Amino acid sequence: MNRSVYVDNNATTAVAPEVTESMLPFFSEHWGNPSSMHTFGGGVKKYIDHAREQVAALIGAEHPNEIIFTSCGSESDNMAIRGAVDAMDGHPHIITTRVEHAAVLGPSHYLEDKGYRVSTLDVDEKGNLNLEQVRDASRSGKKTVASIMWANNETGVVFPVAEIGNIIQEGGGIFHTDAVQIAGKIPISVGKIPVDLLSISGHKLHAPKGVGALYVRRGTKITPHIMGGHQERGRRAGTENVPYIVGLGKACEMAMQRIKQDTGHVRRLRDRLEEGILATCKGARVNGDRENRLPNTTNISFEYVEGEAILLMLDDVGICASTGSACASGSLEPSHVLRAMDVPRSMLHGSIRFSLSCYNSDEDIDYVLEQMPHVINRLRELSPFVQD
Ligand code: PLP
Repeated sequence: MNRSVYVDNNATTAVAPEVTESMLPFFSEHWGNPSSMHTFGGGVKKYIDHAREQVAALIGAEHPNEIIFTSCGSESDNMAIRGAVDAMDGHPHIITTRVEHAAVLGPSHYLEDKGYRVSTLDVDEKGNLNLEQVRDASRSGKKTVASIMWANNETGVVFPVAEIGNIIQEGGGIFHTDAVQIAGKIPISVGKIPVDLLSISGHKLHAPKGVGALYVRRGTKITPHIMGGHQERGRRAGTENVPYIVGLGKACEMAMQRIKQDTGHVRRLRDRLEEGILATCKGARVNGDRENRLPNTTNISFEYVEGEAILLMLDDVGICASTGSACASGSLEPSHVLRAMDVPRSMLHGSIRFSLSCYNSDEDIDYVLEQMPHVINRLRELSPFVQD
C-alpha cells in the first residue's frame, strides 16, 4: 500500500491531539452560555479569557483584550479592512498588494467598486515589496488604511512589516497585516512593531477550522461588522464559540512552546525536499526569495508541465500538495501571486507548493523525493512543448 504524506499545511493543518483534548470538556461539561448570569454559564467566561491571554502571548500583544475572536482568518481580514475604513472620517485611501490572499483582495475590490481609491502595489520577481512604493502610495495626501500581508501563503515570502508599519503610521494611517501564515511559524511581536490590526486563523496552526482572531491595538477604531450583542466588548456580536476559542488558545500556547524546535525541524526537511527536487527533476526552479521565506514552504515550478497534472499524479501515490492555480469560471487561471512576480509563461502553470508541519518526518521527504522524478519525467514525456 502507498504511504500517505501530507505536505499541504499552508492549506490547513492537523488538529493537535492536545488541542482536541482541551476542547472536549466544552462540548460535555462546560456547555453553558458565557453571557449567562448563573455560575454554570458565566463560569465558562474565564476559559475564554484564558484563551485570549494565550493568543495575546503568541503574538506579543500587551493587553489580552486587544484580541477579538472571530470565525476565521477571512473574517478577521474583512473586519479589519472594512471596519477601519468605516470608522475613519472621509474617504480613506486603501493600500494593499497584488499578492494578498483573496480575503484581503475581496474587500479591497469591494471598496474600490464603492468609489474608494485603492493602490495595489507590485512585487519584484522574487516576490519582495519595494518600500519606496509603499512610501509613495502613503503620500497621497489622504488618510490611509493599508493591508499588507506578513507572509505569503503561496511562496512563503516574508514582507518587512516593521518598516511598512512605520511608513504607514508616520503618515497617520492605520496598518493591518494578515499574519495567518506566519503566526506559529516564526516568532512575532506586535508589542515591538507598529501594527494596528493583525489577523490569525486557527486551522493554520493546529487548531480547528472555523476560529480565528483579530488583534486590535488599543486606541485603534474599527466599526463592528456583526452588531447586536455585547460579546467581545461590543466589537463582534454573537455567542462565543467556546470550544473552538479554547482550542485556538491551546494551539497558540503550544506553538509558543515549540516554535524554535519546529522551525528548525521544518526548515531542515523543507531544504532537503527542495534541494532533492532541484537535483532530480529537470526544468525545476523555486519561486520566491529563498533567503526570505517561511521555513516550512517551498513553491517549485516545473517547466512545460501542468501543476494540476502533477497534483493528480501525486494524489494517486498518496501525496497531498497544492498548486498556486485556482479554477475560475471553468478555466484554469495561473496563480495571481506568480503572475505578479512575472514568472515566465513556461513555468506559470506548472507550480507546486509543498508546505510542511512539525508532524512531517524524514521518511515523508524520502517518499516525496522518490516519487517526484517519476511524476515529472512521465508528464514531460507527454508534454508537446518539451524540446530536450
Ligand atoms: N490569509 C491567508 C494568507 C491565508 O493563507 C488564508 C487561508 O488560506 C486566509 C487568509 C483565510 O483564512 P481562513 O481559511 O481561516 O478564512
